[in-house]
Amino acid sequence: MTAQLIDGKAFAARVRGQVAEHVARLKQDHGIVPGLAVVLVGEDPASQVYVRSKGKQTVEVGMTSFEHKLDASVSEEELIAVIDQLNADPAVHGILVQLPLPKHLNEDLVIGRIDPAKDVDGFHISNVGLLGTGQKSMVPCTPLGCLMMLRDHFGSLSGCEAVVIGRSNIVGKPMAQLLLGDSCTVTIAHSRTRDLPEVVRRADIVVAAVGRPEMVPGDWIKPGAVVIDVGINRIAAPEKGAGKMKLVGDVDFSSCAEVAGAITPVPGGVGPMTIACLLANTLTATCRANDLPEPE
Ligand code: NDP
Repeated sequence: MTAQLIDGKAFAARVRGQVAEHVARLKQDHGIVPGLAVVLVGEDPASQVYVRSKGKQTVEVGMTSFEHKLDASVSEEELIAVIDQLNADPAVHGILVQLPLPKHLNEDLVIGRIDPAKDVDGFHISNVGLLGTGQKSMVPCTPLGCLMMLRDHFGSLSGCEAVVIGRSNIVGKPMAQLLLGDSCTVTIAHSRTRDLPEVVRRADIVVAAVGRPEMVPGDWIKPGAVVIDVGINRIAAPEKGAGKMKLVGDVDFSSCAEVAGAITPVPGGVGPMTIACLLANTLTATCRANDLPEPE
């Protein structure tokens, strides 16, 4: 392997440490304790794992964690009543509704009900619009984590050719907005892109957010490019034993690591940064709600 490994786990631990220090100062100087409410509907095992992990890390940085677990059959009215109650609660500075929601619930409607100032996932249409127009907003956690790692690696991203593979509202599109905000030349690729390998080959920065295991091979990568792998795919791992599974990203790590200048691993790359950024966003929301200076 020739690429430098971008250690998202260590980076995330540093971010959480900075958040914890700021939270301690808020408590000491102003008597304010940031609160993050997570709403989980149904019993999806992956969502349950994420919510548990979020709750644990929220408490570890000194914030208050509120968990609302609702039955999969909850009505839209009942779910909206919970959100209204959290919007009105001054102890709650951040609200996250764990997605995906069961099919009978309208995600746009539910997310649209969250007070944009408490929308720490950055999915409310107001925050999407603010980000798109370069104004102060709540920024979606996964792309924010990717941006932080890229800024740390490059210093300035100005003038870099960036290719984002994937155009989802939660990763691809906000990632492209953030890179544009940092003056990259941005291409968004997707399933209809013609000659994807050629498009990816011109990139100094490749962000893969596709949801297809190990789709991007090393021969698509320009030598020295930085590869950020957002994908989290669970695949069979017969080498570990019958029925065993493992996590892989959207890029083929071993071949890409031979060509890239730097690369994030899966697991231990983007994933840990996502929760760290959620905590950072909750801190930002708390500071804004109290007219206090925001963290850097
Ligand atoms: P979506 O399924 O919403 O979007 C996938 C995107 O990839 C779409 O825009 C799709 O194009 C594009 N795509 C699919 N197949 C191809 C292809 N063959 N060539 C080029 N583009 C293709 O996924 P998400 O954005 O929600 O998630 C992407 C990945 O990131 C997943 O593995 C997910 O688990 C992971 N993830 C990780 C997070 C983390 O914390 N690390 C957080 C969120 C997601 P089109 O629009 O044309 O269909």
